Formats: sequence, C-alpha cells, structure tokens
Amino acid sequence: MPTENEISGTPKRRPKQSPTSIGNHKLKPSTLMLGYGFDPALSEGSLKPPVFLTSTFVFDSAADGKRFFEGVTGKRPGGAEGLIYSRFNGPNQEILEDRLAVWEGADDALAFSSGMSAIATLLLTFVQPGDVVVHSGPLYAATETLIAKILGRFGVSYLDFPSGASREEIDAVIANAKAKGRVALIYLESPANPTNQLVDVEAVTAARNAAFPEAERPPIAIDNTFLGPLWAHPLKQGADISVYSLTKYAGGHSDLVAGGLVGRQGLIDQIRMMRNTIGTICDPNTAWMLLRSLETLELRMERAGLNAERVCAFLRDHPKVESVGYLGFLEEGSRQADIYKRHCTGAGSTFSLYLKGGEKEAFAFLDSLKIAHLAVSLGGTETLASAPAAMTHLSVPDERKQALGITDNLVRISIGVEDPDDLIADFDNALRSV
Ligand SMILES: *Cc1c(COP(=O)(O)O)cnc(C)c1O
Repeated sequence: MPTENEISGTPKRRPKQSPTSIGNHKLKPSTLMLGYGFDPALSEGSLKPPVFLTSTFVFDSAADGKRFFEGVTGKRPGGAEGLIYSRFNGPNQEILEDRLAVWEGADDALAFSSGMSAIATLLLTFVQPGDVVVHSGPLYAATETLIAKILGRFGVSYLDFPSGASREEIDAVIANAKAKGRVALIYLESPANPTNQLVDVEAVTAARNAAFPEAERPPIAIDNTFLGPLWAHPLKQGADISVYSLTKYAGGHSDLVAGGLVGRQGLIDQIRMMRNTIGTICDPNTAWMLLRSLETLELRMERAGLNAERVCAFLRDHPKVESVGYLGFLEEGSRQADIYKRHCTGAGSTFSLYLKGGEKEAFAFLDSLKIAHLAVSLGGTETLASAPAAMTHLSVPDERKQALGITDNLVRISIGVEDPDDLIADFDNALRSV
C-alpha cells in the first residue's frame, strides 16, 4: 500500500537510525563521533554533513508546521519534531547535540554560542527574584560576575562553599541558603580554576537530597570544562547538568567559541525553551567545526594527558620550581585524592606551576618559551602558558588572590599534543633564563 506521502507525490524520508551497538557489543563514544546522528541519504549521499546555511526551513504541510511549533512552544515535551527556524534548531547543531550527549551517557544536550551563553541561559531558566544560588568557589571569573553582579541586580542572591568542602560544610551552606530564600540551583565547577581543587559531587548530591524533599530539589549543574568529556562524568556522581565551554578541549584547536549543556531530559527541555526565546544557540558553521573536532577528541585529550604527565614529572624535580599543582600529584590518602579516585579517570592537561621567586621570574619564564604560546585559554592542540595574577585574575582583590593561591610566581599551563620531549626541552630552556 502506498503511504499517504507517496500519494501526494513527496515521499518522506526519515533519517536512518545510526547503530549504537552490534549485537550485545555497545559502541564507544570515539566510534560514534564518526557517524552517529547523521544519515548521508538525506544529504545527497554526502559522507560528511554539509553546513546548512539557512535561516528557515520549509514545512511539507501546514499540519507539520503546527506539530513542529507544538514541540518548540512546549505544548508537547521533547523539543521540535522537525526543523523550523535557525534560532531554534538546525541539522548541524542537532547532530552536534546528539554526539555531545554520548560522552556522558546523557539524555540530551544543547549547543550554545559560547560557554558563557550556555551558563547564562541555564541560570535564566531557573532563577526568580528572591531566589538563592548555592555555588562552589572559586568559579570561572565571568560566571562569578554573572551570578553575583548581574543576577544580583534582579534580586537573586548567592552563598558559596569552598571547592574542596566536606559534607558538613556543604550541609551548613545549604541550610543557610534555605533560610535566605528558595534555592533555585546548585552550581559547581570542578576542578576550580586556578586552584585545581576538586568538588565532591557525590557529597553535594547527598547533601541536596537530604535537605529537600524530592519534588523541591534544586538541580545540580557543574562546569566540566577542564576534565570533560573524557576524564570526568559528573552525571554519574549525581549532577543533573554538565556544563561545557566547548571552546576548550571539545573544540580543541583554539579556533572557535562555543558552549554546551548535557543532562536530564526534563531540565534540558526547560533550558531549550529559554534558548529558543533569547537565541543563544551556536551557528551552523561552528557546529560543523565542532563535529570535526569531536572525531579526534579522544586522540587529542589522551595525547595531551600523557604529555602533561611527562612534563609535570620533569617540572616537579626542577630546582627553580617551588611546586606543581597537577591532579596527578595529589597526596595519597588526602581528601582530594579520595575525590579524584571516585570522580576522575585522568588528571587532565591543565595545571599550575609555581616558580621560586615572583613576577620577575614568572615573566622571564614566559618570555623565554619557544614552543608554548603566551596566551590565556586552554585545551587546544598547542601548549599555552599565562600568568593569572597579571592577566585573567588581574582585577581580583589582593586578599582573595592570596586566599586562592593566585600569587605572582604562578604560571598556568595547558599542555597540547606536541612531542613531549620537545615540550620538556622548551620548559628546560625557559627555566634556565629564570
Ligand atoms: C572558558 C571557560 C568558560 C567560558 O567559556 P567561553 O566559551 O569562553 O564563553 C567557562 N568555564 C570555564 C571553566 C572555562 O574555562
């Protein structure tokens, strides 16, 4: 029997479902990054997804248009069934979202124009005047500004606990927050920048669950930019939403700015409505570049992680080095080492190097590097180095800088995928000029 569509002359093609397993064998994320979520038959057989440069999409029928809008306006859950308008969704962004969700085994994902637009859209979705945001500290500087200064203008307050806090400390902060107002969101960042302190997400989840009956539990969101999506999967420790600056390891080539959220369906659906309204989705070209980046994500991150291990072992024993703040060097038996064992599968490739001396020594080191580039940001194929006290954290008050260990002799390093011996030669040479 011909289908209704064939009768009307427009055979409707549904995308072929990409396999996620072969028999009982479940496919790994690194394999899924090469084809998952894209059906070449829908794009002239093109092996790779084209970049869909269009602002709007043609409906097959008025009834289709109505159904798609029902999804987008939240009349039906799960988002739009079809493509409508490029502020809401597009093929490149949808493939990207399917693949982002794979790494953490999340229900769903959303792509954004930057890490900060992802974080802003998340916060705007959940906060109302009078609410309290509970967060770990320190946070990425722009996130702190957004929560404290910008949301503060709209009557939202916050309370924070230090990243390495114990269950008791977290309990106390949540209790104080409840006394202040409705707790809208618990927002974490782990490891914190630049202290590298890990948050005990399991303890935060247990504290949240003990403090609120199920129907009133505020979501837990966590910025997973530094270790995700390869070395940390905080949804497994009870977080509801994992937050990414895709600009960093996921993009990985220092050539784009983007953000992502992955997590629970019900929450992602609420955030999607906010993104549809304010238009913080990433553009198709950036989404396409991210698809290319994700194909090599595991290769890049593994190599960068191994490189960092080699470089840190070299730096740790160097006479001009005071200490190296690297997650691979946590003190055996310490609380941080315990969190690391429960939460992480790798130490990452971004760390803190404390030189003996002060700004003069840090600057001499940075100015002598020949392979590593003197730039902020992290997670790219090339090694980057910067001085937080003089750059990213310049405007932080001196007292807080001291408390966070942002001293003048601190150099932040993000290791790339170069040859490890070449990197060691570069650091060895730069240390000679200190
Ligand atoms: C870079 C970064 C952000 C902000 O991301 P953008 O893509 O620059 O907007 C947020 N959190 C962390 C931990 C970051 O490193």
